[in-house]
Amino acid sequence: MDANTLYLRLEGPLQAWGSHESKFAVRRVMDAPTKSGVIGMLCAAIGLSRSETQPWLPPLSGLRMGVRVDRPGIRWWDYHTIGAGMQMRIAEGEDKTKLGPMLSRREYLCDASFLVALQGDPGLIGKLHAALSQPRWPVYLGRKCCPPSRPIIEREPDTRPDLLEALRSVPWQKRLGEDTPPERLECLLDWTPTADQPEAPADAVICYDVPVCFSPPSHTARFVVKRELPIGQAARATVDPPPSVSPTPRPRANYKDSKFREVRAKRLAEDAHLCVFCKAAATTVQHITYRRAGGDEELSDLKSLCRLCHDAVTMLEYGAGMTLDRIDPEDPAWRERIIEKRRQIIAFRSLETRRRRLSPEEVE
Ligand SMILES: [Zn+2]
Repeated sequence: MDANTLYLRLEGPLQAWGSHESKFAVRRVMDAPTKSGVIGMLCAAIGLSRSETQPWLPPLSGLRMGVRVDRPGIRWWDYHTIGAGMQMRIAEGEDKTKLGPMLSRREYLCDASFLVALQGDPGLIGKLHAALSQPRWPVYLGRKCCPPSRPIIEREPDTRPDLLEALRSVPWQKRLGEDTPPERLECLLDWTPTADQPEAPADAVICYDVPVCFSPPSHTARFVVKRELPIGQAARATVDPPPSVSPTPRPRANYKDSKFREVRAKRLAEDAHLCVFCKAAATTVQHITYRRAGGDEELSDLKSLCRLCHDAVTMLEYGAGMTLDRIDPEDPAWRERIIEKRRQIIAFRSLETRRRRLSPEEVE
């Protein structure tokens, strides 16, 4: 793999990207993911203990980082205690001998969503992609109490000339129930000197969030420039152009239509209720084309599939920019990819199943 850009989606009910000044009773958070926070997350995915991170920090800090603020989130405070019942010396106020729990106030960003692009050495990008695909330790959004609500990997790594181009290449998605999308998306980009531009632009700001060491924590500075992307540009998908783009919008299938139900039943009966891909019991039919969808389907427009193969095919179709004509599971060109996707689903499901049955220790 020689891709130079890794795409991360940082989204969850809570995020907390602390600043280096934020260590004491009032812990504020930054408006967007910090470089130290993102690198800490990558170290967790690789499975590095604090003492093991040191050799990794120079190459990780050397990656160029760009953040697109898809949803800035809402600030919220939480009241936090440490060591209740341990009667620590808390040294608050006048009485330096007072015993009790330590109190702190912690700030969070609620409901924010960030797209992060990391660019650099393809070897390192490949390693990080592999680590995030199967993280050794849980990844979290700044603080351990902030799990992500979506897979961290936004999409497969690819090669882009610069950070802004990378951030532009991922479509912005309107969320359910959102009626006024922003006109522009703010992007925060690492700035480094080049032959053409040896000095930082006037609008560059300095962020002290590049980790030099995690234990004890110390940071150095980077320049960050803000750029804006019109929503229309970010909303346009520029990845994986489909082989044949049909301008016709996808007609919806009507699963309640009596004629469709008739063709569906006939398809399943002709396939002996077996999945055309793996010969397990078929539970569904797949549209391989939507050209006649909505009740005019022909028998050859549908293929019987089991649940697993159906999920695999649907996942392959998702995001591939297909319009009317979809994956034919019997087409040999798709065979290897369907097998691989099934394998991924089975691996994921079996872990889920084991997690439900066994205690956490037994899973590891
Ligand atoms: Zn099957």
